[in-house]
Amino acid sequence: MLEVLRGIVQEVNAAESLDDALAIIVSRVRAALGTEVCSVYMRDRGGERYVFRATEGLNPALVGRVSLGLGEGLVGLVAEREEPVNLDSAETHPNFRFLPDIGEEPFHSFLGVPIIHQRTVLGVLVVQQKARRRFDESEEAFLVTMSAQLAGAIAHAQVTGDVPHAAAPGLSTKITGVPGAPGIAIGAVCVVSPVADLYTVPRRAAENRRTELRAFKRALDQVRQDVRAVADNLRDELSAEDHALFDVYLGILDDSTIGGEVAARIKAGEWAQGALSQVMIEHIRHFERMEHSYLRERAVDVKDLGTRVLAYLQAEGREEAEYPEQTVLVCEELTASMLGEIPRKRLAGLVSVRGSGNSHVAILARAMGVPTVMGAVDLPYTRLRDMRAIVDGYSGVVHLNPSEELVERYRDLAEQDVALNRDLEALRDEPCETLDGHRLALWVNTGLMADVSRSLERGAEGVGLYRTEVPFLLGERFPSEEEQRRIYRDQLEAFAPKPVTMRTLDVGGDKALPYFPIEEENPFLGWRGIRVTLDHPEILLAQVRAMLKANAGLGNLRIMLPMVTNVAELDEALGLIRRSQQEVEQEGLESPMPPVGVMVEVPAAVYQAAAFARRVDFLSVGSNDLTQYLLAVDRNNPRVSDLYHALHPAVLAALEAVVRGGHSEGKQVSICGELAGDPLAALLLLGMGFDVLSMNATSLPRVKKALRSVTRAEAEALVSEVRGLDNSVQIRHRLESLLNDRGLGQFVPPPLE
Ligand code: PEP
Ligand code: MG
Repeated sequence: MLEVLRGIVQEVNAAESLDDALAIIVSRVRAALGTEVCSVYMRDRGGERYVFRATEGLNPALVGRVSLGLGEGLVGLVAEREEPVNLDSAETHPNFRFLPDIGEEPFHSFLGVPIIHQRTVLGVLVVQQKARRRFDESEEAFLVTMSAQLAGAIAHAQVTGDVPHAAAPGLSTKITGVPGAPGIAIGAVCVVSPVADLYTVPRRAAENRRTELRAFKRALDQVRQDVRAVADNLRDELSAEDHALFDVYLGILDDSTIGGEVAARIKAGEWAQGALSQVMIEHIRHFERMEHSYLRERAVDVKDLGTRVLAYLQAEGREEAEYPEQTVLVCEELTASMLGEIPRKRLAGLVSVRGSGNSHVAILARAMGVPTVMGAVDLPYTRLRDMRAIVDGYSGVVHLNPSEELVERYRDLAEQDVALNRDLEALRDEPCETLDGHRLALWVNTGLMADVSRSLERGAEGVGLYRTEVPFLLGERFPSEEEQRRIYRDQLEAFAPKPVTMRTLDVGGDKALPYFPIEEENPFLGWRGIRVTLDHPEILLAQVRAMLKANAGLGNLRIMLPMVTNVAELDEALGLIRRSQQEVEQEGLESPMPPVGVMVEVPAAVYQAAAFARRVDFLSVGSNDLTQYLLAVDRNNPRVSDLYHALHPAVLAALEAVVRGGHSEGKQVSICGELAGDPLAALLLLGMGFDVLSMNATSLPRVKKALRSVTRAEAEALVSEVRGLDNSVQIRHRLESLLNDRGLGQFVPPPLE
């Protein structure tokens, strides 16, 4: 049964439209259960009626023409109760509703299960049979399993199916994701595929079929040469039988087989990459469905060959990438290097299918001030090229082919944003001082070189977190000690004499170095941060030496350690820092010990804040990770993003505990997670007694304005008041109402529909 289930889900996942998906479902489910009827009713756009959308066994002429309301008929009952209804004699049930001409009369037994996606009933899946017998327990369980698995695919097919309609004037599609970076972008979609992934190639008409055909033939030849070269290299090491496999590979690419099919599709008008990916995916699916495991495994070979050909095609087309004036960059998974590929001036907005609001790329996007939506999981992104789109980075929504009216409303919002930022520019040289004269230091988080000018323009008083992994992420190998020294020197010089807090390399989790892959089942609980660098002291020692040398004659360096969970790690890291310092001095350079701090970003560190503080000069809360670990919510997973409550009472209690722990040892306590850049949260952080708030440069003016509109005593009272609230929604409302009272309601823009 598992095989059948998997097969159906795979086919539905690949469907081109909702109608195709539903046709596959009714035919395959009917066959799998050996029943006489299988139908699907789908909720209409208004969400009020369940429309008869596909059937095998009932009258197909009524498809799309009859519907039932919520609670109406047995289908409406299933939708209303959100659970299965299983009857041996449907027509005797009080809820039964006779639908003329649908042809149900001969069928007595009825089993309907809801299709639920993200807590919404999308439709109802029904099977019926003539015999008066209840479907048995295993049949019911099968249908429930089927429906639960299919719900995501159906939702996806629904949106995919909407997209071609959305291209028609006046019709638009709204896709919901997760807010990534605030702001509004209106522009043209440009889809970027990660390197050589057959499943992410956009559909596109060939501009010149002959050129495309030639490019495909060239790529094919190159792969053939590669395969032959590998075959020659291995001639002495493989048996003749094994060696024959290479002939099979070459055969797959032959003109008379897959190669020929791709060529035919190009001649029919598809561009080479699209034709290749469509043909290869069909063949991969075909192999995957084979009964025999040996043949099934050949799917991997076909995929590998297809990917190689694609890589050559993409390499050829790379320089041609043209970005429209206002580009909305759309991709499966946004990476730091993709951000670097497109000229900043043309980049209006970003949409990523994967990832969530606290993924590291979202943090980079915020720092760059590019409106971003993450986790748009239902976005059929390969079909959106050149389509107009609105990226609403405030509510995490993308509108495809929006109406003029909607564009106008968003334009107004974007203009208000610009006006607000202009007003805030006046605050640049003003201190961050509360109404009763309390000074709070506002620092910035940096990583990219472009952050430097943005930060200084916005009046940053220091750097609370320089993410050293960013230059590591952009290269193709570890930067050498001298290369690092130069990069760090630029940062330190740009801000001197203001302090710059350099965090030692923090990779792992969702930050993978292309040249140092870490493959783990559970990366956020795995080898990351200080754990990696303590296991590789050579990396840490070189990095710290580079920092110390870069600090020569400036003296504004601070060093910070990420992901520390116990004092042994801290002691060991401190030992290595001291050793680096001695080594630098042995080279004849003067190198005073800089202040060293530790990040508090795992729950264990909250309870050890005082013990850590005793050993270092400052603590800095990494609220992004602390929230994910306290709430057990993956910061990178859009499916649970609505549970990532940065203002959760438990998070706030932890923050207070860290301040108490740090101050009890007389040490500075700062916060450098994204929470510090939220004007609402900043009010609480002030009241809790944080000494420094460090945030992305884009947020700094708003936070400053918010803090300058209250007294410290008010903020302290707010913290006490909020301590009495037991959920984050109430806490947020309370903070919003305070900002509203101060005339700063525009810091929290309402969602536009
Ligand atoms: C944090 O976890 O809050 C933090 C600042 O570090 P990063 O986001 O780089 O993991
Ligand atoms: Mg962190």
